[in-house]
Amino acid sequence: MSHVFHRSLTQQYPMAVKGEGPYLIDDQGKRYLDACGGAAVSCLGHSDAAVIAAIREQVGKVAYAHTSFFTTEPMEALADFLVERAPAGLESVYFVSGGSEAMEAALKLARQYFIEIGQPQRKHLIARRQSYHGNTLGALATGGNAWRRQQFEPLLIDVSHVSPCYAYRGLQEGESPEEMGVRLADELEAEILRLGAENVMAFVAEPVVGATMGAVTAVPGYFKRIREVCDRHGVLLILDEVMCGMGRTGTLFAAEQEGITADLITIAKGLGAGYQPIGATLVSGRIRDAIANGSGFFQHGHTYIGHATACAAALAVQTTIQERGLLSRVCELGEGLQRRLSERFGEHPHIGDIRGCGLFQGLELVADRTTKATFEPERKVHAQIKKAAMQAGLMCYPMGGTLDGRQGDHILLAPPFILEEHHLDEIVDKLDNALNSVL
Ligand code: PLP
Repeated sequence: MSHVFHRSLTQQYPMAVKGEGPYLIDDQGKRYLDACGGAAVSCLGHSDAAVIAAIREQVGKVAYAHTSFFTTEPMEALADFLVERAPAGLESVYFVSGGSEAMEAALKLARQYFIEIGQPQRKHLIARRQSYHGNTLGALATGGNAWRRQQFEPLLIDVSHVSPCYAYRGLQEGESPEEMGVRLADELEAEILRLGAENVMAFVAEPVVGATMGAVTAVPGYFKRIREVCDRHGVLLILDEVMCGMGRTGTLFAAEQEGITADLITIAKGLGAGYQPIGATLVSGRIRDAIANGSGFFQHGHTYIGHATACAAALAVQTTIQERGLLSRVCELGEGLQRRLSERFGEHPHIGDIRGCGLFQGLELVADRTTKATFEPERKVHAQIKKAAMQAGLMCYPMGGTLDGRQGDHILLAPPFILEEHHLDEIVDKLDNALNSVL
C-alpha cells in the first residue's frame, strides 16, 4: 500500500517514469499523449533540454537564497522579462510558488493598497459564479465553484458572486453577445452600488475560464465594459491568468486580446511549465507606489517566494517560447485543433458546445443537445471519460457540472505548444474512442 496521501484514496495511479516531448511514459512503457498539460501546465512538453540545462546551471550556482536576505539574478531577469511584455501599467512582479499563492498575494495587495491610501473600509470582493481561483481559503472564497467550496463554506470570507460570461447557457432570448456583455457589466455595477462603491475592494475574473467551465471566452466588449465599471467606482480589477496566461491563448497574456489592462494579474502553470513550481502576481505601479511611499513593506510572504531555481526554470521556459516563435505556433495549432474538433464532434449528440482560444479548447458534454440538459452529476461522465482516455493513452482534463446544475460536464484540452500536426489527429482519435466507450 502506498503511504502517499494521494488525491483520490480509492484510485490506483500509473507510475510516471519518463517524459518525452508531449508524452508521459509509465513504468510499463505505456505512452500517454499529454493533451491537457496536466492542468494546463506543461506548455513545453516534458523534456525540454534548454530548461533542464538552465535548472542544472542555477542549482550549481545558487539553488535558493531567502528573499529577506538577497535578490538573485534569475528573479530579477524574470521580472524584467514579464514587465517588458505585460499589459500597460503592470510594473512589478511578486513571485510565489503557484496559482493559489498568487491569488492570495493579489487579494492581500489589494487590501493593503486601500489601507495605504486611507480607504480601509474597502474590503469587499466581487467575483463570478462558476469560477475557480485556487484552493487556499482566500482563493477558494473568491471562486464560485459550488462543488469545490461546499464543505469549506464555514471557513470562507464573504464574497459576492455575479454571473459568469457564459454565452452557451447565458444568452437571453433575442440578445446579441454584445448586449449580453453590457447586461453582465451592468450586473457588476449594480452589485457594486448595492454594497456601496466605497466598500468594494476588487473584482476578480479569469479572462478565459478554465477549470470550472472548460475554456469559456468572454463575449466581445465584455471586459472593456468591466474595466470601465471598475474605474468608475475606484474598484481594482484582478485578472486571474493562472490557467489562461503565459501564451496558452496565443498571446502571452490573455488580457491583451481583450484590449484591457488590470491592476493585478496572477500567473502560474505555464510560467514554469511544470519544470519547477512557480507563480507570480503582476502589480501595477499605482499599487506598488502606494505601498512603497506608505509603509514601505508588503505584509505577506512565504519561505519559497522568488525561489532562484524556479525563476531560472521559468526564465528558460519563457525565453524558449519566445526564441522558437511558439506563440504564433499556438495560434496555428489552436486553429487546427478547433477545426478537427468541430469536424469530428460538431454534430455529436452529446457535445453541446466546442469553444476556446489558442491551445485552450473545451467541449461541453450534454445529455441532450437540443435542450442542453446536463447528465446527472452522480453519473460522473467526466470521470469515466478521463479513465477511458487514459486507457487509450490520452490525458485530457474533464470536470463535472456544478452543484447548482447550470453547467454540464466538460473536457478541457490544453496541450503543449510543441505539438506537430499529427499529434492533433492523435488527440481527436483517442478522444473519440474514449467518448464512444462511455456515451
Ligand atoms: N486560478 C486558476 C484560474 C486556476 O485554474 C488554478 C488552478 O487550476 C488556480 C488559480 C490555482 O492554482 P494552483 O493549483 O497552482 O494553486
